Amino acid sequence: MKDWNVKSKKVLIRVDYNVPMDENGVITDDTRIAKSIPTLQSLSSKGARIILMSHLGRPLKALLPDGSIDKTKFSLAPAAKKLSELLDQKVEFATDCGGEDSISKIEKLQDGQILLLENTRFYKQEEKADPVWAESLSKLGDFYIHDAFGTAHREHATTATIARFFDKEHKAFGDLMKAELENAEKVLNNPTKPFTAILGGAKVSDKIELISHLMDVCDHILIGGGMAYTFFAAQGYDIGKSLCEEDKKDLALSLIAQAKEKGVKLVLPLDSIAASTFSNEANTELTHDVSVPDGYMGLDIGTRTIKVFKEFILSSKTIIWNGPMGVFEMEKFSHGTEAIARAVAEATYKGCFTLVGGGDSVAAISKFELQDDVSFVSTGGGAMLELLEGKELPGVEAIRS
Ligand code: AMP
Repeated sequence: MKDWNVKSKKVLIRVDYNVPMDENGVITDDTRIAKSIPTLQSLSSKGARIILMSHLGRPLKALLPDGSIDKTKFSLAPAAKKLSELLDQKVEFATDCGGEDSISKIEKLQDGQILLLENTRFYKQEEKADPVWAESLSKLGDFYIHDAFGTAHREHATTATIARFFDKEHKAFGDLMKAELENAEKVLNNPTKPFTAILGGAKVSDKIELISHLMDVCDHILIGGGMAYTFFAAQGYDIGKSLCEEDKKDLALSLIAQAKEKGVKLVLPLDSIAASTFSNEANTELTHDVSVPDGYMGLDIGTRTIKVFKEFILSSKTIIWNGPMGVFEMEKFSHGTEAIARAVAEATYKGCFTLVGGGDSVAAISKFELQDDVSFVSTGGGAMLELLEGKELPGVEAIRS
């Protein structure tokens, strides 16, 4: 991308502006828009005419009672406005994606100007990876850039199929995508040891492939969050009303055995904050060990666990963190996740390379305002998870092939 002569050329960029909005269409977190700016500024300063495509939500899964698309709720118009504010430059908006309005606004684009097209998912062809639609969109630009890491694991028309219609000299990754891939590849292919993975979140079933894959590269795997209780139940401990995936108990045991075989330390919590109900008003107690009393549920890691996890974290040289240690959205059960976030930040200051990836751990690190105190915060939940699982992403393959 850096060597392209883009002056007066039309550059199509797939960005990820799938940002959260409140009921009034006000964007509540503009991180993804802000992170797309370096690529836009570098192309705009070279005189490119920029055409942006993105999806927002799942409009075809939330049709109005009359069967039509809710074009107000799922419109990208607020994203165009937000981008315009962040860039301090007018951003044009087309009310369709590849239709009459797009074509007429593209014709009027001047060098350095930016146009955002309406939600790609207003068209059923997007998720079907329709080659005819993808080809017609490809004709809108001279170059194609993939900078939507958050959707790189989807094989959709604007994230993968469209790239087929550009040769290698006319397609590339944007700066954000490049940074995401370089950081993931750095930890997976060339980690400085000791390498520790911190995994949490609700379900072990979502993280099986991740745990298995990480066993080949990590020295330590620290497991917290709701998924720890399936491991405890499998080992025969009482876990009260804590989360448990009965059908994954055998698998939990086999992961423990695999870790032993491979010489990887799989570290489970030593204690929990147990709660009488799933609520911030619940009665709570710190358990003595991994068992959770009858009628209670484990909703956070306890103080002994924090101490042990911190020791592993502070002695590591590479860390990846995916998934919170407890129900961090409720103040009462946020302390474990906060303590781990602070330890990860401290490790970063001591020279450890730290990558936080996966939706909820990113939300957690932002909640504690530590996003600038770690080495890299990924913008892609599912995409980062699949990369760390060792999978090739369709959006990446489309550019590289
Ligand atoms: P995931 O999307 O699998 O990473 O899970 C994130 C969710 O797991 C967050 O919304 C947390 O509130 C939830 N979570 C973390 N720990 C627990 C726990 N011990 N019990 C129930 N839910 C939990």
